[in-house]
Amino acid sequence: MELEALLSARLSERKREHRYRYRRVLSSAQGPRGVVDGKAMLSFASNDYLGLANHPKVTEALTAAAKHCGVGSGASHLVNGHSHEHHQLEEALAEFTGRDRALLFGSGYMANLACITALMSRSDWVLEDRLNHASLLDAGLHSGAAFKRYQHNSVGDAQKWAERLSGKQVSGHGMIVTDGVFSMDGDVAPLNALSDLAQSHNAWLMVDDAHGFGVLGPKGAGCVDDMGLSQQQVPILMGTLGKALGCYGAFIAGSDVLIESLIQFARPYIYTTATPPAIAAAARAALKLVELEPQRRECLNQHIAYFRREAEHLPVTLLPSHSPIQPLLIGDEESTMAIAQGLESRGILVGAIRPPTVPNGTARLRITLSASHTTDDITQLLEVLHSHLST
Ligand SMILES: *Cc1c(COP(=O)(O)O)cnc(C)c1O
Repeated sequence: MELEALLSARLSERKREHRYRYRRVLSSAQGPRGVVDGKAMLSFASNDYLGLANHPKVTEALTAAAKHCGVGSGASHLVNGHSHEHHQLEEALAEFTGRDRALLFGSGYMANLACITALMSRSDWVLEDRLNHASLLDAGLHSGAAFKRYQHNSVGDAQKWAERLSGKQVSGHGMIVTDGVFSMDGDVAPLNALSDLAQSHNAWLMVDDAHGFGVLGPKGAGCVDDMGLSQQQVPILMGTLGKALGCYGAFIAGSDVLIESLIQFARPYIYTTATPPAIAAAARAALKLVELEPQRRECLNQHIAYFRREAEHLPVTLLPSHSPIQPLLIGDEESTMAIAQGLESRGILVGAIRPPTVPNGTARLRITLSASHTTDDITQLLEVLHSHLST
């Protein structure tokens, strides 16, 4: 009973802080209009930015591949589970991102954990933006390297720490790690300056472009391509397949030697079953749609511009983001939850993001836009926001 008592106390504490998390049950496909806990909702809470999660061509690729390959991959990639579907997707991702090679992982969390722990160890240093995704922070800590977090998007602060760390760790090497598009803020990292900083300290730059991949850049290859950064400038690029691509999984792209090293040394790559090959086939179909249908990105960008133009007039702070992530800063947990619940009672679902996911005092509504929204959907969102925030 001691365990029960301890856990119950922790759970009560979380409720008191208004930080308790609840799961809603979705009983329709992913999309702006779905059935959530039995109720029809207009959703602005998904990372399906291009509307591919329920696209017929993607579903078709999944079912066709399943008919051919079955469901389970049967084993890890190194044993017997690396299918031609995985292999073709890796080749397509390498070509699309302009990297020598790409390597698939079960999820973005695993890709980050695998990559940082395989490359960095106790004599090294890892420097991360303090708002990086939890998986990057966990990986940095878990690697055993000297670990520091710099002020969000502050190249000056990063430089200060890089100088200290590289001075101390004479024998080891360094890595600077950043989200490309920050998942809870929607802003983009100063990648050019971080790349210069990394090079001047002989460190490697790793960019996690979970939210930029598929969305940013002239062809949707993400923020690294948008800023024209080469494989030498950003030697380690991570992207996910579960957000704009609407599927599941993730990849690391870079040089042949990087990818071979991960295959040899990355434990979360080696000791896990490969994702179902049909998922890889679906992701390849989604990637093709990203390439062939730039109108999805154009539509999304129009939605973003329209939302920002109108949301300027709301009595809360709209964070400076030009990505599909459009957060409205509220501050405390209780008000954030109350507003989110008010919106929900009007049939609008948005993310209510609270600490510890974001820093204390910065609880927010995380609104995400998708090419699958209509202009009317956004007008409706704005109307409901106006009526709830102005009272
Ligand atoms: C979602 C996300 C991940 C994790 O990716 P999954 O495939 O969902 O595990 C990693 N990094 C960032 C920045 C993310 O937003």
